[in-house]
Amino acid sequence: MVMAARLPLIAEVNHAVDALGMYRAELARILGLKCYDVSDSMQLELLLGEEPEIACRAKRFVYLYILLEKQFSGNAASMAHWIRRENVFLGTTPLLAMVDQGRVEDVIAVISKKRVEVMSDVKFSGSCLCGSVKYEIAGEMVRFSHCHCQRCRKATGTGHASNILISPISSLSWTSGESILARYKVPEANRFYNCFCAKCGSPMPREVKELDAVLVPAGSIDDELPDLPQQRIFWDSRTQWSCPAGDLPVFSEYPG
Ligand SMILES: [Zn+2]
Ligand SMILES: [Zn+2]
Repeated sequence: MVMAARLPLIAEVNHAVDALGMYRAELARILGLKCYDVSDSMQLELLLGEEPEIACRAKRFVYLYILLEKQFSGNAASMAHWIRRENVFLGTTPLLAMVDQGRVEDVIAVISKKRVEVMSDVKFSGSCLCGSVKYEIAGEMVRFSHCHCQRCRKATGTGHASNILISPISSLSWTSGESILARYKVPEANRFYNCFCAKCGSPMPREVKELDAVLVPAGSIDDELPDLPQQRIFWDSRTQWSCPAGDLPVFSEYPG
C-alpha cells in the first residue's frame, strides 16, 4: 500500500528528513540516488516527478515517517532517537537498516508491529516469590509487551504488566508447585484470567489457548532474556503516573 502524501511529495520528504534530523546523504541512499541528486531540492523534485520507482521509494519513506509520527504523537526528539537506537527486531538501528541495508519495509513492519522474522527461540526458568511454584519454558518468543490496561494494573499492583508471549502452549512445563496454582477469571472478560501462586500471590504463566501460546509475567523469570520489550499496549488506558513511553512504540489497545 502506498499512502497518498498530505503535501506535495517533495515537501513531505523534506519534512520527514528534517524532523528526523537525517542527513541528505542518508536520504539519497534510501531513495537509491546520488548525494548531488538530493542536495538540490529542485533536482529532487524533478526526479520524483519523472522516475516512478524513486517516487515510490519516497512515498514508502514518507509512509514510514507518518507511522512514526503516529506512534510518537509527533514528538520529533523521540522519533529521531528511536531510529538511531539498536532495535532487537532489526538487528541494527532502524536508520542503518534503511540507509545501509535498504530495509525500509522491515522498519515499516516493526513500527506497525507486524513482526519481522523476530523471534528468538528461548529457554528459561522462573519461579514465584515464595519459591513453591517453579516452571521451565522452551519455545519461541512471539511478543514482549508492557500492558498498561487497568486489569493488568490491578493484577500486578503496578503501572503496567510486562508480559512475554511464548509459543506454543507446550513450551511450558511446571517443575514444582503446579497443584497450588490458583486462577481467577474476570467474569466479564473474554479471556483475561490471572494465574498465581496461592501461597504468595505471584503472577505465574498462563495459557492463551486461542493463540496456542503462554503468557509469561516477565518478572517471574529467573534468567536473562535475549530480547527487550517491544512495545507498550493499552496505552490509552494508562494512568498519568505510569512510565513514559520512552523509545517504545505505543498502541492504544492491541497492536495492528
Ligand atoms: Zn509462591
Ligand atoms: Zn493488560
